Amino acid sequence: MNFNNNNRLAIFGGKPVRKCMLQYGKQTIDHRDIEAISEVLKENNFLTTGPCISRFEENMAKFVGCKYAIAVSNATAGLHCAVAACNIGPGDEVIVPAISFVASSNCILYVGAKPVFVDIEENTLNIDASKIEAVITDKTRAIIMVDLTGQPADYHAIRKICVKYNLILIQDAAHSVGTDILMESNNLYNNEYCFFRKVGYYSDLTVFSFHPVKNMTTGEGGMVLTNNSELADKIRKIRSHGITIDYKEREKKGNHYYDMDTLGFNYRMTDIQAALGISQLKRLPQWIKTRREIADQYNKGFEKLFKYLEPFPYQDIIYPSGYHIYVIRLKLEKLSCDRDQIFKALRGEMIGVNVHYMPIYLHSYYQKIGKQNNWNYNKGICPIAEQRYNEIITLPLFPTMIGDDILDVIDAVTKVVKFYSKYD
Ligand SMILES: *Cc1c(COP(=O)(O)O)cnc(C)c1O
Repeated sequence: MNFNNNNRLAIFGGKPVRKCMLQYGKQTIDHRDIEAISEVLKENNFLTTGPCISRFEENMAKFVGCKYAIAVSNATAGLHCAVAACNIGPGDEVIVPAISFVASSNCILYVGAKPVFVDIEENTLNIDASKIEAVITDKTRAIIMVDLTGQPADYHAIRKICVKYNLILIQDAAHSVGTDILMESNNLYNNEYCFFRKVGYYSDLTVFSFHPVKNMTTGEGGMVLTNNSELADKIRKIRSHGITIDYKEREKKGNHYYDMDTLGFNYRMTDIQAALGISQLKRLPQWIKTRREIADQYNKGFEKLFKYLEPFPYQDIIYPSGYHIYVIRLKLEKLSCDRDQIFKALRGEMIGVNVHYMPIYLHSYYQKIGKQNNWNYNKGICPIAEQRYNEIITLPLFPTMIGDDILDVIDAVTKVVKFYSKYD
């Protein structure tokens, strides 16, 4: 490769592909959202736990097709509520994928139970269902599956295991809000009869996140979804201090008395946030469609780079991705540098790349508690996760990206990968 000014990398003094940094994820807010929030503030009756909360919960339950939806302050709180509502505690084990955001497994530690990590599939970044049975013991109580990148994890295989061993299935759907999976079909390869179910319907408990980088936002926020009325009641209680009768019922009864029969928290969402959520939910399907279109453009743009990289995940018929994030896997054997160098070079070109995520057990806190409790969190326990971690980069993807943004990303990746190619 010759080193003229066009292909010299920005980190070596060349001209960057873009002038300003392109973020990897970003919320979409318009006048409808702003009006919805102003409305709550103007009415000034309830700022928290008012009519918008119930309406947001009802709308979300209807959207997903499930019976109960409980709004919470964030998905981390939602995961804590989910695990706590299942009465999981000290001495229990919960299975969780090696690669996810730390919150997916921290919720297990919150209740004093042990996270047991399972390696990921080669072709997705999701938990490998075929490796779950090997780690099940008589202490295993639940599986937390995570829909990493927005592609639902292999529900059909995981549900079978849950039935066989009587385990609770919790779905961390922070990345897959608004997507669905194929439940039944007479023929996978034509569309004669296909029956889809929304994420949030089919697991015992599903948790959504509405953090600003997620598929829709309430600033901070989350939702727990279930078809089980007992679990729904417990979660509502845990969300609000463990108090049995909420203030609305007390008012109705004209009574001051309430009892606290469970140790709960304040994990409530405000009415202001719920108003934003109601407004955002209306546009969620359109945003998922746009995310898929952007991913298609990336896939096409990267076709000629297949020697050096492949996109994650493969688009799947049963588990179609909503592309919460767009991840490429670098074929490092074809490149003369490591992922971190490519990462640095892309940042230099003003592309706001990211990495999702380091295997959870490699974090220093997990290393420490692993040693303290004699839990095997040693390097090497999930080799595919550790290898993939060194190969992945998340590229910018959000619904308001414009065509030039997408082309800039493709140009920058092409420039950087060609520069470090072992071929050219
Ligand atoms: C964002 C995220 C969470 C936590 O969501 P918050 O709403 O920020 O608490 C949990 N799990 C995964 C996989 C996430 O990406």
